[in-house]
Parts: sequence; C-alpha cells; structure tokens
Amino acid sequence: MGECIFCRIAFKAIPAKIISETSLALAFHDINPQAPLHVLIIPKEHIGSVLEIKAQHSVLLKEMFLMAQDIARQEKVDQSGFRLIFNCGPHAGQAVDHLHLHLLGRRKLSWPPG
Ligand code: 5GP
Ligand code: ZN
Repeated sequence: MGECIFCRIAFKAIPAKIISETSLALAFHDINPQAPLHVLIIPKEHIGSVLEIKAQHSVLLKEMFLMAQDIARQEKVDQSGFRLIFNCGPHAGQAVDHLHLHLLGRRKLSWPPG
C-alpha cells in the first residue's frame, strides 16, 4: 500500500466519505471541495496518472465513467450539468499521484479553467 494517500483510502486504512464502490473503483467526497458537489473517483489499484494508463485498464476506465454517470444521476446534477477532470502533472496542479477523476457540480463552472 505504501504511503500513497489514495491507496490508503482504497484499502480503508484511512476514512473517507465513500459514496460508491465496485471491485475495481471507489468514489468519495473530496476533503476540500471546490464546488457544492465534488467527488473523486479512483481505481483501487495504484495508477500514478493518466500517463500510466495501459490498454489493460479499459474495463476499469469504463467502470470509472459509468460510476461518474450513476453519481451524477444520484446526486441530481445530470440535468444541470457537471464537469469531469483528470489533472496530470505540475501545470495541471496534480497534487496526488494516484489517478483520480474529479466530478464537480451543483454550481455554474467557469470556462476556460484557471
Ligand atoms: P489533484 O489536485 O491531484 O487533481 O486533486 C487531489 C484532490 O484530492 C484535491 O481536490 C484534494 O482536496 C483531495 N484530497 C487530498 N487528500 C485527500 C484526502 O485525504 N481525502 C479526501 N477525501 N480528499 C483528499
Ligand atoms: Zn496509490
């Protein structure tokens, strides 16, 4: 498991407000939300970033996107709209080196992002 904070959350070694879980992926509320709804969807296996995604991760990625879709409906932002983001590397502000899909919603989001 090592020191990776999201691996520790995936192993339930540290708590998180989990809202959805499958054998491959986990969704939980961001600790420092940037919108009224801010959920992170992560693979349970450690993948450092988008740059480490391999063809063998296709089932996992499908699961992460279907999870995002389910959460958007459950949380009733499917009609109002929401944003999905993968930050990758320093210029994008990636702070946690474990792949995570941000789901942001319940407010109007500006574009382009900062
Ligand atoms: P990044 O900037 O890497 O794309 O996003 C990392 C996100 O993880 C940030 O939005 C940050 O608030 C969130 N985060 C960091 N540590 C924790 C934690 O221990 N628990 C939860 N729930 N979120 C975290
Ligand atoms: Zn990890």
